[in-house]
Amino acid sequence: MAKSVLSADRFHNEEAAFEYVEAQLWPNGPVCPHCENSDAAKIGRLQGKTTRVGLRKCYACRKPFTVRIGTIFEDSHLPLRLWLQAIHLLCSSKKGISTRQLQRTLGCGMKTAWHLGHRVRFAMAPGGSIGPLGGAGKVVEADETELARSRKTRRPADFRRKTHNPIVLSLVERGGDIRSTMLDHRSAMGVVRANVHPESNLMTDTATRYKYAPVARHDMVDHSKGEYVRYEYPITGEPELMISTNTLEGFFSVLKRGLVGIYQRVSTKHLDRYLAEFDFRQNTREALEINDEQRADLALKGFPGKRLTYQTTHSETEA
Ligand SMILES: [Zn+2]
Repeated sequence: MAKSVLSADRFHNEEAAFEYVEAQLWPNGPVCPHCENSDAAKIGRLQGKTTRVGLRKCYACRKPFTVRIGTIFEDSHLPLRLWLQAIHLLCSSKKGISTRQLQRTLGCGMKTAWHLGHRVRFAMAPGGSIGPLGGAGKVVEADETELARSRKTRRPADFRRKTHNPIVLSLVERGGDIRSTMLDHRSAMGVVRANVHPESNLMTDTATRYKYAPVARHDMVDHSKGEYVRYEYPITGEPELMISTNTLEGFFSVLKRGLVGIYQRVSTKHLDRYLAEFDFRQNTREALEINDEQRADLALKGFPGKRLTYQTTHSETEA
């Protein structure tokens, strides 16, 4: 399937893969991960028949390093070209790519495919402390979807028993980013409080879970009565205000077709990472003039600095 897309050198040649990753992660030249030395005069390249690709030596701290150190890449010895293929496939598949499909396309084992997929998802998750969505004069829509149920049929889809029916709460700043969270022990209000700027205009349906939301203004549409959009025309000359959570409808549709159709056996334990994957693609979608290659570069930039926190899921092999 991806033969023509994956024909670039970096997907097949390890030297080219290193060159590509180095250019992305070291835009100003190599940086020693041990002492942060970036003085080109004090960094040498180690080359020889038995030397690993991309190996360098820092003359400030005397230690060797490669671009993999201090990143998610450090966790495994898989070739970088395989990583680049996995990143590319996950970034260019609108509804995600199953472990089996990844395994077939990459020609690797199931376990390797699983690990690659989950690490790429992990890189796609926002790192560090991210600021709240919204702000003064900005609209944030909030809505939930039941993954094992469709709004049309109202019948649970054929989900595995252990998966029950997870509820996902998504928040989107109109014209901005989307953020999705699985609601289990987390309350909707807790998620709103942690992720929405208090001066925002929040838009939800009439569900009581949003009552007394800590925001400057809260508008509701009554989904139970079939109301999905309503317009308000202020008399002060301001633009009309569209009250709806419709931005999330299209996203939920892709999310459910992906999680139910492609991934099928997503356990709630890993759901947050799948949500990070769908959020990431939505936030870097084509409508924002970001193409597949640029999206993959953005995912690649999420690899540094995340290694240590990944350990918790290191040896799990279920979907
Ligand atoms: Zn150093």
